[in-house]
Amino acid sequence: MIGGGPAGLIAAETLASHGIAVSVYDQMPSMGRKFLLAGRSGLNLTHSEPLDELLHRYGDSSAALEGAVLAFGPEQLRAWAAGLGEDTYIGTSGRVFPDSWRATPLLRAWLHRLAELGVVLFPRHRWTGTIATHDGERHERAVSFVRPDGSDIEVTADIVVLALGGASWPRVGSDGRWVGPLRECGVRVTDLEPSNVGVVADWSAHFVERFEGVPLKNVAITFAGRSVRGDAMVTSRGLEGLPVYSHSAAIRDALASSDSAQLSIDLHPDLDETLLARRLGKRRPKDSVSNWLRRAAGLSPVAIAFMRECTNNVLPSDAASLASLMKRLVLEIGAVARIDRAISSSGGVTLEEIDDRFMLRRAPGVFVAGEMIDWDAPTGGYLLQACFSTGVAAANGALEWSRLASGGSIQ
Ligand SMILES: Cc1cc2nc3c(=O)[nH]c(=O)nc-3n(C[C@H](O)[C@H](O)[C@H](O)COP(=O)(O)OP(=O)(O)OC[C@H]3O[C@@H](n4cnc5c(N)ncnc54)[C@H](O)[C@@H]3O)c2cc1C
Repeated sequence: MIGGGPAGLIAAETLASHGIAVSVYDQMPSMGRKFLLAGRSGLNLTHSEPLDELLHRYGDSSAALEGAVLAFGPEQLRAWAAGLGEDTYIGTSGRVFPDSWRATPLLRAWLHRLAELGVVLFPRHRWTGTIATHDGERHERAVSFVRPDGSDIEVTADIVVLALGGASWPRVGSDGRWVGPLRECGVRVTDLEPSNVGVVADWSAHFVERFEGVPLKNVAITFAGRSVRGDAMVTSRGLEGLPVYSHSAAIRDALASSDSAQLSIDLHPDLDETLLARRLGKRRPKDSVSNWLRRAAGLSPVAIAFMRECTNNVLPSDAASLASLMKRLVLEIGAVARIDRAISSSGGVTLEEIDDRFMLRRAPGVFVAGEMIDWDAPTGGYLLQACFSTGVAAANGALEWSRLASGGSIQ
């Protein structure tokens, strides 16, 4: 197993529970670092919506993922977490979280279980990108690693599972450096691009100084005719958060053919424009514009400052125009944030390169799982769900393949 994220670890667990001797190699000093990072802001393990709706979230890849998700879907994932002592609950909008909200207790219990199953972990081993196949009497694959002291080590295995992740947040290990070597082996890999990522905006220094890290609560952001509600976070370079991430793929595509894109932001999605204008009609004579917006429309300081940012500080003075602006503020976007700030990356090993056992067609005995495969999904638990589902599917595929390859027995 190369890659000790959720996809690699669940594949390791699945194989080991069938009596297979499994070693997991990862280039980081410990396993599951991105999984822990994901847990920092609430580990959204999966989603509770009906399976056909959930599958729909994977867009063009849903057919390729269907078998894996049906075999190990949200129900199985929640049961698995409960088996590790972490019951789950359904939060707002159907998202599923462990009771502790974090990934730490789950990962701790998981690593303990893996140790009991005899899985051996090799942290600080960076796969160099080569896999040599020796198909003599036994089917063997030789993979090489570099250790921190610079020394090389070659390991042979009957089965290799690659679960190397995407390229977002490279400091937790998934740096996408596997793309080049796999392409050299002839495996088609689409470029890794930021997905579920924030947008870059041209804030004033004053706005960043005062409001970096402050959320614009309960806004509706519309792009290309689709509107998503939630909290958007002001960052030093732009905006992040669920309603922004949900549009990031569409914004990225739009920016491929244009210099800029425009988000339309409704600061008051629960109030219609007429009612808002009526409320704004009650301005006290001595109220400043900010006080007027705060008192009459209930806007927070960050929302008021945001209005000023989007309008070059030129706000209309009549209630009707102000209400209209508040419902359709335009934020000009020149870029999405860099991949190292993205929640996930799109692109990866193309689905045509993989058979229905998640084995690379060009490299029998080598399986792939997790975010390194070319599927994409929004936030909402769909990313981890697909990592777990494909991890289990790759392990089961490997079991099936090696049974066939060894004529009935696996060492
Ligand atoms: C801030 C943040 C929050 C997130 N929150 C959520 C969430 O709440 N819900 C959700 O569904 N998803 C979330 N995600 C996404 C989710 O964490 C990932 O999709 C998931 O971890 C991918 O799992 P994976 O096993 O495929 O890869 P990874 O978890 O990235 O693991 C890949 C492993 O491979 C190792 N590796 C890479 N290259 C090599 C090499 N050459 N040699 C050896 N080892 C190597 C890496 O060190 C790494 O440990 C979040 C992501 C981020 C960044």
